Amino acid sequence: MSMYTEKKDITKANPSPVTVLKRDANNLFVEPKDEDIETLIQESHNRDRFAAKVNYADQWTGNPNSLDKAGNYNCKSCNQYRDPGDKCLWVDIKKVDGKAGSCRNWEMINAGDPEIVANRESVDVASYGVAENGEGFGCHRCPYSSRSVRGPDSQGRALWCGYGAFRVQPNACCALNGATLKDSKNDLKEGRIFSTKDGKTFNLIKDKI
Ligand code: SF4
Ligand code: SF4
Repeated sequence: MSMYTEKKDITKANPSPVTVLKRDANNLFVEPKDEDIETLIQESHNRDRFAAKVNYADQWTGNPNSLDKAGNYNCKSCNQYRDPGDKCLWVDIKKVDGKAGSCRNWEMINAGDPEIVANRESVDVASYGVAENGEGFGCHRCPYSSRSVRGPDSQGRALWCGYGAFRVQPNACCALNGATLKDSKNDLKEGRIFSTKDGKTFNLIKDKI
């Protein structure tokens, strides 16, 4: 039986149903244990919501140009980065951190995708930040992901995103990535959890789990 329940507050003015999924002590959604059709449809819809609202992308979902196969999403590997000078063509910023900086507009390098000097989006709107880990972002480093208790879905997504309630590819990412940022007080720190295996943090890509 599906673990989603429905909140009965549908009105004529707004007929959109609201579903509820249990949350844990860290305010993260608890992964359902079943693979009923209703559960899978809801999970797929949750993924599409993140793709539409916070730029989630994987091999089959969202904008394929914004999937970093390496799972790092750093400025240096973005189509809008220019060297020398660590410049960004899109964000209104003097200089980016090529190795550990990133934003919600990351795009793969593509010779057939010409850019323009724009500098139109503010740092805040772009959600630009520099990862304290010095390496980058990606679901595999996100404190909101953990190994799926059901195992990979039919397309091989092996991690559960407790922030959005859907399985993700380890090298995917979104604008809400919970990585600690350099030189910033991370107000999400209190609620952080880490993907653990035998009590240790692990990295799905490096550890090949
Ligand atoms: S700030 Fe964003 S758009 Fe600019 S180079 Fe970095 S990832 Fe790309
Ligand atoms: S695991 Fe983190 S980075 Fe990946 S979709 Fe969820 S919140 Fe975004």
